[in-house]
Amino acid sequence: MYYGFDMGGTKIELGVFDANLQRIWQKRVPTPRDDYRQLLAVLRDLTHEADALCGSPGSVGIGIPGLPNEDGTLFTANVPAAMGQPLPRDLGTLIGREVKVDNDANCFALSEAWDDEFRHYPTVLGIILGTGVGGGLIVDGNVLSGRNYIAGEFGHFRLPVDALEVLGRDIPRVACGCGHNGCIENYISGRGFEWMYHHFYQQHLPAQQIIAHYLAGEPQAVAHVDRFLDVLAICLGNLLTIVDPHLVVIGGGLSNFDAIYQALPQRLPAHLLRVAKLPRIEKARYGDAGGVRGAAFLNLVRNK
Ligand SMILES: [Zn+2]
Repeated sequence: MYYGFDMGGTKIELGVFDANLQRIWQKRVPTPRDDYRQLLAVLRDLTHEADALCGSPGSVGIGIPGLPNEDGTLFTANVPAAMGQPLPRDLGTLIGREVKVDNDANCFALSEAWDDEFRHYPTVLGIILGTGVGGGLIVDGNVLSGRNYIAGEFGHFRLPVDALEVLGRDIPRVACGCGHNGCIENYISGRGFEWMYHHFYQQHLPAQQIIAHYLAGEPQAVAHVDRFLDVLAICLGNLLTIVDPHLVVIGGGLSNFDAIYQALPQRLPAHLLRVAKLPRIEKARYGDAGGVRGAAFLNLVRNK
């Protein structure tokens, strides 16, 4: 059995998956935000509850809003109790097995990569177009986390020159939460979608309303979406040239905007090498359940 914990700032969710990767049990509890001992006790008790249910100890993976440090401690701003703590080691001692931890965006990508229909693909690029832009790279069924666990942090490369041709060279280089200016997450995220609309039309509208106007054929919204999709294709084209994945899975709120899946195959080739065949591009299939799935699947190994 595979146990996956999705550890967030307000709740911890455990999903238990059988050998066929089907979820057979889940439980959700509040996160002890400030008490590390209590946090460990909650994770231990949930693990033992799952063990009792399954009749044998399962493997344990945890997805966190943050990343593991090189020394085995965690960086998790949203879960203060775990910040700077060697949680994988301490929990491992309590429950008598190895505990794997990874970033929740990597867990999202891993969850999708192990879908029945997707798991044969050697390389999967998962990208989240939500409030920000995040993602992960999966190679042969495992997360490629890189030297610093920042592989897949696609949101923080800067606007490509082709995007400046579309947006205008004087487009403001928006200050990013990471400390740089002009990171693509400020333009191609859901937040960026709204920011860009305001920049060109001086109107604050929620993304859903802009999309409704677009679907109704309102010229301003149509022009906006056209521009946005151009920039998205440019940014994704750069990613594809680096990674050359077999499958791209898009998650986050904007992934529900179906125009993306019509536009990308048409617009991407202009931004790729001529020899490049397009990868399959799909909407994420697991939504909020991706967190526990991906965490559980940190312990999977693909049969070669
Ligand atoms: Zn940034």
